[in-house]
Amino acid sequence: MTSFASLGLNAALLKALETEGYTTPTPIQAQAIPHVLAGRDVQGIAQTGTGKTAAFALPILQRLAANRRPPARGGCRVLVLSPTRELASQIAESFRAYGRNIGVRVALMFGGVPKGRQARAMAGGVDVLVATPGRLIDHMQDRTVRLDLTEILVLDEADHMLDLGFIIPIRRITATIPAARQTLFFSATMPKEIGALAAGMLRDPAHVAVTPVATTVEKVEQSVIFVEGARKRGVLFDLLRDTTTGRTLVFTRTKHGADKVVRYLEESGIPAVAIHGNKSQPQRERALAAFRSGETRVLIATDIAARGIDVDGVTHVINYDLPNVPESYVHRIGRTARAGASGVAISLCDNEERAFLRSIEKLTRTRVPVMAIPGQARAA
Ligand code: AMP
Repeated sequence: MTSFASLGLNAALLKALETEGYTTPTPIQAQAIPHVLAGRDVQGIAQTGTGKTAAFALPILQRLAANRRPPARGGCRVLVLSPTRELASQIAESFRAYGRNIGVRVALMFGGVPKGRQARAMAGGVDVLVATPGRLIDHMQDRTVRLDLTEILVLDEADHMLDLGFIIPIRRITATIPAARQTLFFSATMPKEIGALAAGMLRDPAHVAVTPVATTVEKVEQSVIFVEGARKRGVLFDLLRDTTTGRTLVFTRTKHGADKVVRYLEESGIPAVAIHGNKSQPQRERALAAFRSGETRVLIATDIAARGIDVDGVTHVINYDLPNVPESYVHRIGRTARAGASGVAISLCDNEERAFLRSIEKLTRTRVPVMAIPGQARAA
């Protein structure tokens, strides 16, 4: 299993990740971080929700910290171009959060607000400037920003930039940045125009990609049940005692949560087994064998533990907790509907998890239909 430490990140960043509650790198992070740390250009195919912001922000922060120098007046050491103000704000926020123990100056520039404050924020120079292309061009024309000493350039959501007509502004911006820079180029898709733009900007790039998610999702019949946390186990019981529910994989966010669910189900007369990081290898193998053979119909797992397992004929995936990394949701529900079969995925969502559901819907570009609580009349 890859850890952030084994990717080569320094103690200050690891501490910040602990504060964020990130324990394991996402696939795009595991792939991209070593290349960026090594100073290579990167061409990445990844959608929002895959953890791609951290995939570039973490190693960039480490490179900045390893070679501290004051930024040029009006300039930046790192320029991140983003198509929308929302995304730009999120990226700036991420740099601040991950860089909290390093001390980085981050500035944000987007249209629709007065330019004066943005220009003043740039006056002394910053480590990281996150900007939308249109507003950055305005500042370049006003000479309130200079890019000729920029060391690292990130282009995020390039295909979205194309949709918004930003390709020419991007070419104008990149023409003013030294060719000896490091460039990181991210896009969810790679149509021809984007491929051409990348080819013109990158030098011997490392290619990283995470699998597109939409295709797996389409085959699964999804639904979400809104339910308070305290009532979740009762709802799970009702779902599982329904005899149409076949071989079922139940996901929890934590190991402790997995054990609690197993205990409750066992007490309620539904045999279940769990696999997670605290189980020994023989324990995991026994649990998996019981699930495979059909001896136990219900397997409870955490995301990490579920990664390596491949069991055919899973008819249902139940998300007892929604994952905070939206891509995990796609991996989870992809455990059913294997090899062309159809599958059912039901998510239990309490109030605090609504934000997770929104990011999942954004990533998969679908709306998860709402299902009523089964057996409403049953006492909780
Ligand atoms: P992004 O694809 O960069 O928009 O990130 C999607 C979400 O995943 C953000 O809310 C991040 O805070 C979160 N995230 C990114 N990396 C991790 C990780 N390794 N573990 C947990 N959450 C993460």
